[in-house]
Amino acid sequence: MEMKDFGVISSSKAKMPPGYKCSKCGATGVKLWHDVLDHQSLLCLRCTCEDQNKVRTPSEDGRSLYTEKIHYWYRSASMSPNHWSGYDPTKGIPSDAVDIRSEQERTNQIGWYVPAVPTKDDTFFDSTSEPKFGYDWWASLPFLAT
Ligand SMILES: [Zn+2]
Repeated sequence: MEMKDFGVISSSKAKMPPGYKCSKCGATGVKLWHDVLDHQSLLCLRCTCEDQNKVRTPSEDGRSLYTEKIHYWYRSASMSPNHWSGYDPTKGIPSDAVDIRSEQERTNQIGWYVPAVPTKDDTFFDSTSEPKFGYDWWASLPFLAT
């Protein structure tokens, strides 16, 4: 395999590394993901969702994805301020609830795929070990080609 120079990723002003391209549809200039066990096969949002059979929706701030999962929370009068407990909406709202809210789950993973953040050497970090500047660079890319 041809060696790629990812040494440009040293600041948020980093340039697009050569080879940063969806291996399925060829999309460039967009966020890519890689299999957690395979650091070189890159896929775009659409192709990763298709491959992993997942539904993901970009968040408003462009830094993460919504899943289909929604968390339900309630408060009762006896709870301390700002304390919320989860509840199962299929069983109805808890009888002692004085307030309820729900939020859509956020992630940056798609099944077994994690953000492909380029590093100095010819590999891609996984989402837990990447330095912040790399993630900022990744987050600055659009989710989909325009
Ligand atoms: Zn693609």
